[in-house]
Amino acid sequence: PAIGDLIRRPGPTFSFEFMPPRNREGEQLLWQTIRELEPLRPDFVSITYGAGGSTRDTTVSVTERVATETTLLPMAHLTAVNHSIAELRNVIGRLAGAGIRNVLAVRGDPPGDPTGEWVQHPDGVLYAEELVRLLRESGDFSVGVAAFPYKHPRSDDIESDTRNFVRKCRAGADFAITQMFFDADEYLRLRDRVAAAGCDTPIVPGVMPVLRMGTIARAVQLSGAPFPPALLERFERIAGDDAAVRALGIDLCGEMCRRLLDEGVPGIHFITMNRSTATREVWQRLAASVSA
Ligand code: FAD
Repeated sequence: PAIGDLIRRPGPTFSFEFMPPRNREGEQLLWQTIRELEPLRPDFVSITYGAGGSTRDTTVSVTERVATETTLLPMAHLTAVNHSIAELRNVIGRLAGAGIRNVLAVRGDPPGDPTGEWVQHPDGVLYAEELVRLLRESGDFSVGVAAFPYKHPRSDDIESDTRNFVRKCRAGADFAITQMFFDADEYLRLRDRVAAAGCDTPIVPGVMPVLRMGTIARAVQLSGAPFPPALLERFERIAGDDAAVRALGIDLCGEMCRRLLDEGVPGIHFITMNRSTATREVWQRLAASVSA
């Protein structure tokens, strides 16, 4: 099925995001996690594309293996970094050949320093919008794009960020998934801005619980967004107690998901970091909403 259609159905979708493994150990961990999360029967799972296009082959092969060896519906992420259009067409052709119909089209960040200058491949594309078009021309794909509750770190202001987001939706995106965030209001403001711009592309929130203090700095780096000060204060008060930090992180993530579900979000996308326990814990807190 097309993920765009699943997301448009009544009732929220639940989905999990994985990263391609870097070595044999990572591969074992990933497959153990996939097997542990499979019984939760998520609507789909997604496999990211490594920075700089480094995991091109692994992303395609893991996505293919999920499609053939599990009951899960996989979506492959695809980025434009370091790829010519011919190479992109080649990856898209491999995905199509493996029966993969769902792709998240993101521009990607430069390898090394993700905040460094974005250099277009001489024969490549400049924005995710063009990747969306390429996928649409290449076959019967349901295409997703990235959304940023607190604007993209490279965007000058919220207005241009919204305008560019709407452009890539109009280029043929069926749905969007957000960067992680920790304040439901940031998501709701994004949703309102996009709706006010006349765009009805469903935006699925991407969530990840804080499991240790280090997650906070990493999240700030990834999203370019400040961590909500009131929450930061709560974490800092218990920073020396690892178990308490983890418990608070799971609680807050569960509370935020519940609020988002009450607000009628089209789904929730869990960033798993290839581990199952935290995702299952948040999931259990939502069990009532899931079965409702
Ligand atoms: P774009 O939509 O191209 O936007 C990039 C910047 O350019 C923005 O500031 C935008 O406002 C601006 N812009 C866009 N169009 C125009 C235009 N026509 N004119 C002028 N300016 C414009 N990275 C990976 O490497 N691998 C992954 O698998 C991956 N998965 C992700 C999944 C999700 C859900 C999210 C939210 C992000 C993911 N990323 C991934 C990170 C993503 O690649 C980076 O955040 C990247 O910097 C932005 O990608 P984008 O698709 O939003 O880019």
